[in-house]
Amino acid sequence: MANLKYEKTSAWTGKQEAILSYSEGYKNYLDSGKTERECCVSTVEMAVKAGFVDLNEKISKNEAVKPGDKIYYTYHEKAVVLYVIGTEPIEKGLNVTAAHIDSPRLDLKAVPLYEDGGLALMKTHYYGGIKKYQWGAVPLSLHGVIYTTDNKKLTVNIGEKEDDPVFFISDLLVHLAGDQLAKPASKVITGEQLNVICGNIPLEDEESQKVKMNVLNILFDTYGIDETSFLSAEIEVVPAGKARDVGFDRSLIASYAHDDRVCAYPAVTALFETENPARTCVCILADKEEIGSVGTTGLKSRYFENSLAEIINLMGEYSELTLRRTLANSYVLSMDVCCGYDPSFAEAFEKNNTALIGSGAILTKFTGSRGKSGSNDAHSEYMHKLVRLFTDNDVAYQTGELGRVDQGGGGTVALILAEYGAHTVDYGVGVLAMHAPYELISKADLYSCYEGAKAFYGLV
Ligand code: MN
Ligand code: MN
Repeated sequence: MANLKYEKTSAWTGKQEAILSYSEGYKNYLDSGKTERECCVSTVEMAVKAGFVDLNEKISKNEAVKPGDKIYYTYHEKAVVLYVIGTEPIEKGLNVTAAHIDSPRLDLKAVPLYEDGGLALMKTHYYGGIKKYQWGAVPLSLHGVIYTTDNKKLTVNIGEKEDDPVFFISDLLVHLAGDQLAKPASKVITGEQLNVICGNIPLEDEESQKVKMNVLNILFDTYGIDETSFLSAEIEVVPAGKARDVGFDRSLIASYAHDDRVCAYPAVTALFETENPARTCVCILADKEEIGSVGTTGLKSRYFENSLAEIINLMGEYSELTLRRTLANSYVLSMDVCCGYDPSFAEAFEKNNTALIGSGAILTKFTGSRGKSGSNDAHSEYMHKLVRLFTDNDVAYQTGELGRVDQGGGGTVALILAEYGAHTVDYGVGVLAMHAPYELISKADLYSCYEGAKAFYGLV
């Protein structure tokens, strides 16, 4: 008798060894790339090892692009586009995966340093959607770039090594928190209370602001920077520490920034293993998704399209029409995290249509909020094509929506790539505690996402 029911099954079945081994590389990727800049660097390092060459080098030498070529392109050190050129004519379309490598965090303000109550502190402005109260009383690190007083660009990474100092945002002691705890959670810690404590020793011969002046002296002696250096700096405050296995069975990973490295890593590692595909395969790792895909490195900018134009040009086939046909005939996986069913907050989910942690990566037909607003809404024909692809390739998958109807919602880059007319669907890994300083994923879902991306690059 045929099985007429649809039931979610565990993605662990028969694949435990492969899953556990694949997730080790992922933890390194998390630890080495906490920000979009760091993630860009580590992705390029991996790409170069996998035989990818810089598109800008090819452009400067006017070197022809041919089937089988592996090419990468970075934009302002914050976004990466990787290509494996297919054997079919490019205008038949690309197989594109798109994930993002920016994550919610706190950014230092332009004039961050001040002193109050014998402490030196730094002002921040949060980036992306966070529950602000989660950032108090946890160890924090600083990552980014800053220019010295003699105009050298410095890479900042303080708080990750065992013997590094970390930084700290205070929360009010519970003994005095009667008023605070009666507030709605969104106001328990406010944006202007996200102040990073960074010093306490006074500089004795100063008249005022002795602690701040001591910090400035240390910064100048150690790094050659002064207070003016911060005006042009980009320094991100993120949770300090490494990704950790979770559970007696080590089945899960707790880490900062699974959103969206848990999709970026499968997308890019599956591409590295793609040799001579039929259709040209592309992996986009974009910046600024968390604030609406804006700015020159967000996906609403044209760097992907421009890099594709350069590639078609180096194939000797460039025309506006070829570019448009290539984009319109493409298949896109918009790879971003979705929610997993959380047993402790069951009321936020509709169980039949929420992904289960450990039942495979998630195909999400539509995202959005208030009646699918801001969604792409994939076509049935494309959904069916992918369901068959995953079934034929023994890839665990499930469907899932982002919570109950009208509970909230969210968007991804799907609608931006859909603007080219390309078939587009949301695909990614289910996360618990999304956008918290530490998020949780299942290694089985990570691995099925990698298997899904690998099958997708072979889609014809
Ligand atoms: Mn995301
Ligand atoms: Mn997000």
